[in-house]
Formats: sequence, C-alpha cells, structure tokens
Amino acid sequence: MVEEAFDRKAVAVETPAERPDQYYGKLVFNRRTMFEYLPKATYEALVDAIENKKPINRQVADSVAEGMRRWATEHGVRHYTHWFAPLTGGTAEKHDAFIEHDGKGGVIEEFSGKLLVQQEPDASSFPNGGIRNTFEARGYSAWDISSPAFILDQTLCIPTIFISYTGESLDYKTPLLRALNAVDKAATAVAKYFDPEVKHVTSFLGWEQEYFLVDESLYSARPDLVMTGRTLMGHESPKNQQLEDHYFGSIPSRVEAFMLDLEIRCHRLGIPVKTRHNEVAPNQFECAPIYEETNLANDHNLLLISVMNEVARRHNFRVLLHEKPFAGVNGSGKHNNWSLGTDRGAQLFAPGRTPMDNLQFITFVVNVMAAVHRHNALLKASIMSATNSHRLGANEAPPAIISIFTGSQLAAILDQLENSDEADLSDLKKKSEYSLGLAQIPEIMLDNTDRNRTSPFAFTGNRFEFRAVGSSANCASAMIVLNAAVAEQLEIFKQKVDEAVKNGAKLTDAILREVRTLIKESKAIHFDGNGYSDEWKEEAARRGLDCETSAPLMFDAYLSPSSVKMFEQTKVLSRPELEARNEVKWEIYTKKIQIEARVLGDLALNHIIPVATRYQSMLVDNVVKLRDLFGERANEMAKCDLDTIEKISHHMGLIKTLVAEMVNARKKANNISAEREKAIAYHDTVVPAMETIRYNIDKLELMVDNEMWPLPKYRELLFIR
Ligand code: ADP
Ligand code: MG
Repeated sequence: MVEEAFDRKAVAVETPAERPDQYYGKLVFNRRTMFEYLPKATYEALVDAIENKKPINRQVADSVAEGMRRWATEHGVRHYTHWFAPLTGGTAEKHDAFIEHDGKGGVIEEFSGKLLVQQEPDASSFPNGGIRNTFEARGYSAWDISSPAFILDQTLCIPTIFISYTGESLDYKTPLLRALNAVDKAATAVAKYFDPEVKHVTSFLGWEQEYFLVDESLYSARPDLVMTGRTLMGHESPKNQQLEDHYFGSIPSRVEAFMLDLEIRCHRLGIPVKTRHNEVAPNQFECAPIYEETNLANDHNLLLISVMNEVARRHNFRVLLHEKPFAGVNGSGKHNNWSLGTDRGAQLFAPGRTPMDNLQFITFVVNVMAAVHRHNALLKASIMSATNSHRLGANEAPPAIISIFTGSQLAAILDQLENSDEADLSDLKKKSEYSLGLAQIPEIMLDNTDRNRTSPFAFTGNRFEFRAVGSSANCASAMIVLNAAVAEQLEIFKQKVDEAVKNGAKLTDAILREVRTLIKESKAIHFDGNGYSDEWKEEAARRGLDCETSAPLMFDAYLSPSSVKMFEQTKVLSRPELEARNEVKWEIYTKKIQIEARVLGDLALNHIIPVATRYQSMLVDNVVKLRDLFGERANEMAKCDLDTIEKISHHMGLIKTLVAEMVNARKKANNISAEREKAIAYHDTVVPAMETIRYNIDKLELMVDNEMWPLPKYRELLFIR
C-alpha cells in the first residue's frame, strides 16, 4: 500500500500562458468589472455606498444584480449562492439556479436585487446557541457590499452576513463588521489629534496560513485523520524535525506543483497570495498574502481554505488544517498580522519622522498594550478551541498566556517615557546599521525590532502579530475581540485626554500624561523573555495574567463583566448574543472530543487489539513449537518472546480497561444537560483517558510486527517523496 501511495506522479499544472497581472481578479466582480457591467449611475451609487458605508436602494440593487448575472453567465455560471460563515467555523452555501418561469412553459435566466440583497436560509440547521426560538426558525443572509462577489466552481458567490429573525448575529462577519466600525470611529477620533483631516481608520490583516500535506491514499487509510483531522495515535518517527532540515528547505516538486496550482487559482479569485515556504515540521508549509482590509482579508482566508482543499485533492494530497495533526512535531498556527492605518496614508503603529508622528505612534501602541492587558483572558478565549488547545497550553507548546513582545528598542522608549517627562521622540525611525564587513555585500539595515518566536502577540516594526490564532480558525474570532477591545480603550483614552484639555492642559502634555499612565498600568502584559519557559508561567501568574489552561473554562472570559461591558459599549455583541455564542463554543468543544473519543475507542478495540492479539498468538505459537523441538533448552531460547508476550498482554489489558473507563466517562458527561458543564466534564475526564490510551497503543506499535500494523505510521505519513 505504501509503495503504491508514493508511486503516483505529480500532477502537471497547467501554467497559463498569461502573466499574473493578466488573470489576477478575473473571477471577481471588482471595481473594474463593475465599471464594465453596470450603468454609470449604478456604479457610482454602489462605489459611494461601499466607500461611505451606506445602504443601497432597491433600484440600485436590481441594477447591480442584473450586471452581476450578465458577467457571471459570460463565465458559464448557472447558479448563485449567498456565501457566509456560520458559527461552525467553516463557510456555508446554498445554491440556486438563475432560472425563473417565463409564463410560456419555459424559463428565463434572471437575478433580482431582492435575491442579491437578502435570503432566508433555515437558521435551525446552523449552530445558534438557543437564540432561535422554536416557532421562528428563519435566519437572514444579507449582502456585504464591502466584499466583492466572486465565481467559485461555476457558481456566483455573494459574501453575506447571517443573522436570526430577531436580528442577532449567527455568524462571524456581522460582529466583525461591527468591530471594524467601532475601531474606525474610536481610532479616527484619536488620530484627529495628530491630523485633523483624518476621516477614516482602516484595520488591516495579513494572515500567514500554516498547513500540513499528506498523501491522499495514506490519509484514507487513517480513520482518525479522515474523521477528526488529526492522528489520535502513532509513535514518533525516529527522524522528524530534530535536524531542522525542513524549514525554508527546498520544496518537494509534487508540493511545488500543488502550490503553483493553488496560487494561480487564488490570483484569479483576487486573493493576493505572495509568500510560500516549508515550515519547521516535515510536510508542513505556509502561505501568506499581501495584507488587506480586515474583512476582505478574512473572506480571502476562508476562500483560500476551500480552494486549498479542492486543489490538494487534484494533486493526490489532503490538506490538514488541524492545529496539531501529529504529536511530537510542531503544530500549525495562523499568525494574524494586524495594523491600523488612516485614509491619509499614516500607519498608526509605525514610527515616523517628526516628534508628533512619533507621539501618535506611541499613543496607538500603548493603547493596544492597555487593551490587550485588560482583555488578555478574552483574547485568549477568542483563539481557543478543542483543536487549538493542543497547540497552546499542552506539552511541547507555548503556554496559554497572552503577553506582548515589544523588542528592546520600543521597550527602552517605553521605559524612558514612563520615567521622565522628556522622552526623546525625535528619531525613532533611525535603524541600527549593521556592517557585515564583506565588500561584495552592501550594508544591511537591521530592522529595529528583534524577533521573538515564543511570544503570542508581538510588535514587529509597523504592526502587531497575533500568533496564537489556530490554523483552522476563522480569523474573525480574534479580529472581533482585538478591534473591539482597542476601540473601547481608545474611547477611554480620548475621554481622559479631552477632560485634561478642558481643564487647561496642553494637548501634547495631556496625551503624554495619559500615555505614561497606561504604560504603568499595563506593564504586566509586556514580556520579552522566553514564553516557553516554566519560569514564565509562574511569573505570569504573579503578574495577574490569565493562566487558565482548560478551554471550556477559558470561554467564561466572554461573559465576564468587563467583556460584556466592552462588547455592549462598542455595540459589537449584546449579552444575549454573547451567551448564545458561548453555548455554541461549549457544544462544539464537546462534540469534537466526543467524536475523537469514539474514533479512538473503535480503533483501539477493532484495529489495534485484534492485531496485537494475532501477533501475540504467533509468538505463543513459536514458544510452543520451540518447546516441542528443544524441550528444556527452549526456555532460554524463548525468553525474548515470552517477555514480549507479557508486555503485549500488559498494554492490551490497560487499553481495554481504559477504553471502558473512557466510555463510562462519556456516558456520565452526556447526561449533563448544561453545555458548559458537559464541556468541562469532557475536558476533565474524557481527554485524559484518551491520552493514556494513546500512550499504550504507541507502545504496542513498537512491538507488533510491522507488516501486521493496521495503520500507516508517522514515518510514512510525514515524508512526501
Ligand atoms: P514573517 O514570516 O516574517 O512574519 P511573512 O512575510 O510570512 O512574515 O508574513 C507577513 C505578513 O504580514 C504578510 O501577510 C504581510 O502582508 C503582512 N503585513 C505586512 N505589513 C503589514 C501591516 N502593516 N499590517 C498588516 N499586515 C501586514
Ligand atoms: Mg510572521
């Protein structure tokens, strides 16, 4: 089976004769296409609505729908769908054909503004946390005009929000758009201190998507991968990442063919993917685009995931987006590079040339630190899931504690500001020059921010990088909390500064004074040391940072008084929405562990134990035969077999008992009706049982005849040839 798996030749990629600039965005209803397919007045009304966040009227909607349909049908499209991101974490679509009766027994293809703007998918089929009451199951999807429609697999996809009949959000996009509005409003007000002409502040996101590839036939032979996205058992391969030979190594040609195919498709869909490389673990890779406005960037990430899954299969691969598909090697994250910028071109987290630019830079950076400090537990909750909990807070992984890395230069400036009245803000942009002393290589300008890979939230020169986000997550979860928390903090900041000014202070003095207070208050969040060390866990607890390691308990942070206040004040999520969304989080947590536990139980009892028994019986047979042949002398000869026979019995016995215990723990947990308590029971009783079962299976893997072992092993799964 293994030989056959590796025998397949890489699928040749049809490289288009055209260059990327010719096919980029071809499948997107972008401004260029709008201009071509819409009447001038419609085009102008739509662009005005997008730019100024205004609604469009029915007439404009009808006209846009007609233009969109015409464009789509020219690309061979017959169907359209509202494309949204329900709380499952993935995307959802329900396709409808353009056809309508023509009144003469035939059909015509039509698409109206009404169908473009709004639809009514059944909300009861999606997680809703009890928001939907039984007599009103309807949900609405409504067009998000800020994210352009696109064609995927011959279907016109219209990005939409998804809300309940009573108006509560049932998706990620709705609160994300609200958070982006909140941060726009709050940050614009503060940015006006430095440039009165600022009208809008935009939130930007550049994600880095990590993933694993496995050969499709090996994947199919692992029920755990197929059903849970990760290996529930498997002994470490003798070689994995210890030689550090995979990171930035040359990309295997089969993988390169996959990447090229993926990039071409992404570019047609207007996803500006740019960077690709091998990651640290064997078979682990990364792909990153040029950063975009956060809502669009997030849609593009969701779209990338769909495209990736499909392209991988064409290359006889499967993509694993699980945060920890293999024990013992690195897990996968999705770093969220995040920044704010004004419509006047200023990057608010980048130092500038004048002292005023730099005061603005410090103001925004320090407000982010204060927001992250106040809501560190909530930010952690925003990235936590059953799958990401293997990556954070588990063995061989960073701890589940949020802290900010600033790098030495920014740290020095913060220190100086805190301790004196006159910090030197005149020249933050000066970079330390670094001479290599090699005549043939020009001098390198070293970036003034050093790198610390162990920090979950790092300042990287002109942006923050939220690294704790999981590879399978919808980035919106983290972006909702971050943007809303920063919006809240900027509002508080502005109130304080305005009050000081009203009381006679000079504006810059008032700003500096408030900045100084914030530096002092949020000191605990700043940590530049090794985030993986045990000392940090103790230190963080002393500093009062949230150190909770249980995912179901972390979700409580969404309902803490400070979180509810922040979400309500910024109008991002109401208390009923927060409560409903937490119900969903606990429910999904439980279901994921439940599925894993079932698969593990089945594999243990139906795959592993029978094979181990068969091998053991072969050994027993051998001992009996040796005794027949050699009599007394056989005892010495069979020693090794006897030893293995005993060990196999030992592990099999433990596995049987533990599986029974795990099934019992599950039954008990299933009787709990409250979602929170059920999730806690799964975390506290089912998860530990699964770990010990795995330990014993992995021991058997090392004893049982390789030919008999029923599952592909790590050394086969992890090395694409
Ligand atoms: P690294 O591996 O060094 O972190 P990458 O090049 O892999 O860097 O990814 C960096 C990501 O950060 C890219 O998506 C890039 O577009 C994005 N990025 C760069 N500048 C900004 C910014 N100002 N705001 C948001 N994202 C940014
Ligand atoms: Mg990075």
